[in-house]
Amino acid sequence: MTYSPASNRYDSMIYRRCGKSGLKLPAVSLGFWHNFGGVDLFENSREKVRYAFDHGVCHFDLANNYGPPAGSAEETFGQILKKDFLSYRDEMTISTKAGWGMWPGPYGDFGSRKYLIASLDQSLKRMGLDYVDIFYHHRPDPETPLEETMGALDHIVKSGRALYVGISSYDGPSTQAAYDILKSMGTPCLIHQPQYHMFNRSLEGNLQSVLNKNGIGCITFSPLAQGLLTDRYLNGIPSDSRAAKSPFLTKDQVESSLSKVKQLNELAKKRGQKLSQLALAFNLRLPEVTSVLIGASRTEQIQDALGALQNLSFTSEELQLIDSILA
Ligand code: NDP
Repeated sequence: MTYSPASNRYDSMIYRRCGKSGLKLPAVSLGFWHNFGGVDLFENSREKVRYAFDHGVCHFDLANNYGPPAGSAEETFGQILKKDFLSYRDEMTISTKAGWGMWPGPYGDFGSRKYLIASLDQSLKRMGLDYVDIFYHHRPDPETPLEETMGALDHIVKSGRALYVGISSYDGPSTQAAYDILKSMGTPCLIHQPQYHMFNRSLEGNLQSVLNKNGIGCITFSPLAQGLLTDRYLNGIPSDSRAAKSPFLTKDQVESSLSKVKQLNELAKKRGQKLSQLALAFNLRLPEVTSVLIGASRTEQIQDALGALQNLSFTSEELQLIDSILA
């Protein structure tokens, strides 16, 4: 069926400015790490993207290696774009990344100029795009000089392959260093993509102040701790869940967090929210956080995430209770 987006798609989403840039992002963005690969049902992926776009989620986050197999999430996205969204390209922010292992040999991993530029050219082909909106260096490279990696990002912007650049999983000092090098080249560091959720608070502190001081935007990945911070595992491990299917979330992680998850679930109920909504609100309470980057295996999970926007504030008692549950 021909797709025609909802006319009221921008009415209920919150858009936040990305740091001190001109770009605004939806408070909820959709990521393609899991559930959009060649192994997943195309029509389910397509339905999720349509649902997201119809509700103002106009930012889609990819990477060269998302799948499985690696590269296939970008292919899926490219097919969805071609079928449904060609006239809506200018209403979307599309991001991709390189930095983890993608192809064999010395040129398919980490942060060399050779890898990053070749990888983005491959990503553009897979998605059928002339440019992406944001290109990230996906993780720090302990061996390549930061000047080379940032020089590659600068070249990527100046050659028209990306409008903006960002970094992911860099700590506070290396974020400051990357920001300074990019600035000296005339290319702003638009955004940082760290992991952040109630079980991983490493953003708070030094990194948070570097982002704040320099006006760098922030999009937090795995805000639901891959599903731990939802009602998914309250009664065991469902056979279609990430913990049952993916090596990235183990049964041990589920079991060892369960008693805290149950206590957080009680707090969510008192706030009139689902646990997933409490978890997203917890991220969005930080003024530095522009957007939460969720994953979803089904459309209803995106719907749940949007419900979080109804209540983003916390009392100091609630925050103290969260700290004591997590302690
Ligand atoms: P989340 O923490 O949002 O976890 C998503 C998973 O949680 C879903 O796949 C689903 O699991 C479960 N879930 C989501 N909503 C609900 C709900 N309402 N009720 C019950 N279960 C729910 O994020 P991800 O770990 O998927 O990461 C999100 C994105 O962040 C990625 O797609 C990617 O774009 C980015 N990312 C970036 C990284 C980086 O290094 N820069 C690293 C990791 C992620 P189930 O499959 O069991 O249904």
